[in-house]
Amino acid sequence: MGNHKFDEAALIKNGNYVETVKLEDLAEAYWREENQQTYNNTYFGRIYCPECRCARLTLVNNKRCRDLFLRANDAAEHKECSYLLDTAPFEAYREYIENLSDEDIRKLLKNLIKKMIRNETTEFNPLVLRMKSGKCTDDKIQSKDIYNNRKDLKRQPIKLLTAPLEDDDYGVLKLFYGRVHIKLSEWEKSSSYSLRFRHPNTNKLIITLNFSNAVKEYLEPTITEYDNTVTNIALASRLEKRKGKDGNTYSNAHICNSRFLVIG
Ligand SMILES: [Zn+2]
Repeated sequence: MGNHKFDEAALIKNGNYVETVKLEDLAEAYWREENQQTYNNTYFGRIYCPECRCARLTLVNNKRCRDLFLRANDAAEHKECSYLLDTAPFEAYREYIENLSDEDIRKLLKNLIKKMIRNETTEFNPLVLRMKSGKCTDDKIQSKDIYNNRKDLKRQPIKLLTAPLEDDDYGVLKLFYGRVHIKLSEWEKSSSYSLRFRHPNTNKLIITLNFSNAVKEYLEPTITEYDNTVTNIALASRLEKRKGKDGNTYSNAHICNSRFLVIG
């Protein structure tokens, strides 16, 4: 059973779901005072798995690098939840995604937005795959199957785009999702375009997608409609790391495969 890190948590007060809180907002509350007063009053003991809302989470302070991360206290507390499963092996997962039809990948990404951003329930769990003889297959796995019979089941590798990207988020194919600010820019000299996706609150650059005029025509009118707006996106891609000026990265990556991107 995987001991996953979480990018967000469900806040539950007196047994009632209040909202889903991002790791960065928990971290902001944690660092606000030296004694973590704001964090303790609002969140301590009240944060749970964002998917099943059953497993208790703890914000762990890695003192060595001042990084905070979220872990489940006891992974056995997850109920009918994809976090009960290990992540699919990256090579088998890449093969699976690259062999999906355009229509299937569009459905998968739309379902990811529905489940993870809009908090809608779907008839099956879009984050779960079956794995047999080293190959991933998707046979619309219901949440109860995860609980009753989780042999052969794997979790799709997913990552919230507005959470800081970590080293293991680069260079492998994953599903990325989030609510971002989109801006289209034209490079007249090379007659090419770039789409920039920024954090909607901090304006930090998260990912960039460069493409040619021919691709832009294909993307019309979706791109024009969403240009300069904050909207939901999901993509199945490998991200290539870009160095910031200080040699570090917050996020700031290139998207390597634009075929698998859904906006809105
Ligand atoms: Zn869970």
